[in-house]
Amino acid sequence: MEDVTRVVKDIVRTVVPYLEDARVKVNGACDQVEGWQVIAYTFGFTLILISLYNFIFDEEKSLKERIKKRFFKFVKKLPIIKDQIAKEIDKNAKGVEEGFQKGVGKMKYMHKLPDKGWTEKKIMDELDRYHSLVKVDWTKGTVSGAVYSGDDKLTDILVEAYRKFAWTNPLHPDLFPDIRKMEAEVVRMCCNMFNGDDKSCGSVTSGGTESILLACLAYRNRARENGIKFPEMIVPVTVHAAFDKAAEFFHMKITHIPVDPVTCKVDIRKMKRAINGSTCMLVGSAPQFPHGSIDPIEEIAALGRKYSIPVHTDCCLGGFLVPFMEKAGFSVPKVDFRVPGVTSISADTHKYGFAPKGSSVILYSDKEYRKYQFFVQPDWP
Ligand SMILES: *Cc1c(COP(=O)(O)O)cnc(C)c1O
Repeated sequence: MEDVTRVVKDIVRTVVPYLEDARVKVNGACDQVEGWQVIAYTFGFTLILISLYNFIFDEEKSLKERIKKRFFKFVKKLPIIKDQIAKEIDKNAKGVEEGFQKGVGKMKYMHKLPDKGWTEKKIMDELDRYHSLVKVDWTKGTVSGAVYSGDDKLTDILVEAYRKFAWTNPLHPDLFPDIRKMEAEVVRMCCNMFNGDDKSCGSVTSGGTESILLACLAYRNRARENGIKFPEMIVPVTVHAAFDKAAEFFHMKITHIPVDPVTCKVDIRKMKRAINGSTCMLVGSAPQFPHGSIDPIEEIAALGRKYSIPVHTDCCLGGFLVPFMEKAGFSVPKVDFRVPGVTSISADTHKYGFAPKGSSVILYSDKEYRKYQFFVQPDWP
């Protein structure tokens, strides 16, 4: 103890003369400066430092990205280029418009509500007329990635089921215990399908994009609660654009990882290298939309476990195929809750679940994650 005191005293004895020296020098330099100037310089310099810091360390977009954007914004304002761009946009817009018009042919657009209400027959005739505009026969099942079924018998069942519940409102589960029970059952069936345990849970949503938005929102909110100011998601470059949309909506940073040029699966080494203190989620698709390959979910989940980061499997497209592949005699890698580290899965009932458009599920391995997706406003009048 005495040793420590002596050492500290020694240090103080050595440092004090230097400090004294510095004090005299600084005061000397300020000899010609008035007090108000010292205050003004200090204030101004601090402001510049803060702006510089904010400019370099932006929360969402990297410096490189922003410089690139600024540069193109500037170039696009140059008169010659501006005219050229305007011409090209005009040409393309016309092309798109003509394309749409071709699809509609000579059929007129209605601009106003009809003066007199239509009869049921008139409504149905009109609908048939609209229907006749569709030239592609998608019922043969060849419009992959857009239409997932066209079976007449199934259509009859869907329509009959819809008839029974057309006026229900899921916002009022007290009024409609029937559909609340249905939602709970759809979620539980999907949890079981993806091998979730008792803690797994989820929500029915209006589509794959909403399922993905909710998962991103949940992980962003969770990260913020854990003190991460600017949460960042790391995704394969092939991931669905809904993740970019989420990043834009929820002010998250998004980092795209390249895929292997042959297998089109995410490069796991590059994903690992991208992980940092702000990473709030990792994503893999099963499968991804552009090429149909399944990302190495087990390896992504291992990274998630190692660094305590939630992992989302986007099974929107494969949600009602992949879980049955093994039974059907195909070998597929594990992508669901059997893989430790997978914390959420999106699966589209409105794709190979054969439900009509406007339906999907988001599942979580634990309520601990789902709780962050909910929005609460307790002070509404
Ligand atoms: C379809 C799809 C989605 C979600 O798209 P929605 O049109 O909003 O249902 C997300 N990821 C993948 C891989 C998809 O195929």
